[in-house]
Amino acid sequence: MRFVLLGPPGAGKGTHARIMSEKWKVPQLATGDILRRHIREQTDLGKRAKAILDRGELAPDTLVNELMKDQLAKPEAKNGFILDGYPRTIGQAESLEAFLKSRNEKLDVALYFKTSPEVIVDRLSGRRSCPKCGANYHVRNIRPKVEGKCDVCNADLVQRSDDRPETVQHRLEVYEKDTAPLLNYYRKSGLLKEIPGDLNVPELQKELSNVLAGK
Ligand code: ADP
Repeated sequence: MRFVLLGPPGAGKGTHARIMSEKWKVPQLATGDILRRHIREQTDLGKRAKAILDRGELAPDTLVNELMKDQLAKPEAKNGFILDGYPRTIGQAESLEAFLKSRNEKLDVALYFKTSPEVIVDRLSGRRSCPKCGANYHVRNIRPKVEGKCDVCNADLVQRSDDRPETVQHRLEVYEKDTAPLLNYYRKSGLLKEIPGDLNVPELQKELSNVLAGK
């Protein structure tokens, strides 16, 4: 199964991508997580990307397209993948389409997590992330087993620098301008399926199972 997840920051793409990745036995390819790993490891790419992410802007298409082609070409992604945070512009969607076509592959579905603005702001301001493995929690809705610690690797949870209110606002503007046009792009190709992103995690998983039944 080849999925693309669409929706604004805070829609729950990462949380559900992790669950679906286990269920469908396909890798979750999360562009933001990959970029943050480069930043942590201070690679050349990470040094270029840091200021861009901190400002809440998008990394250039050329950089992200190359990065994601490498991921998609890995043997683990041969039989399917969940793209979380890619594509985020029409240019990226076209690059992805051309890449898949060159391999005789195609997407099965683009899942749009339709989420209301109040929910997004609440989720992002309460989000806490593991700096080591990237797992996400929420101060009220998705609490870790031990306060302030990651369930997976026991690292101290942090607030991502781009989850500060000033940056969140800018990310939402960037989403509207650059990423929202993708909804029409995938609607036209018949791949778009809408999911109510305001639902809590178990409710939304149930909804996903219904939407994906028979896929
Ligand atoms: P969220 O979905 O909550 O915004 P992500 O982890 O997906 O978080 O993305 C964090 C940041 O990483 C984005 O604000 C952007 O700077 C960068 N980024 C992620 N995916 C892309 C992409 N496909 N193209 C360009 N930049 C990206």
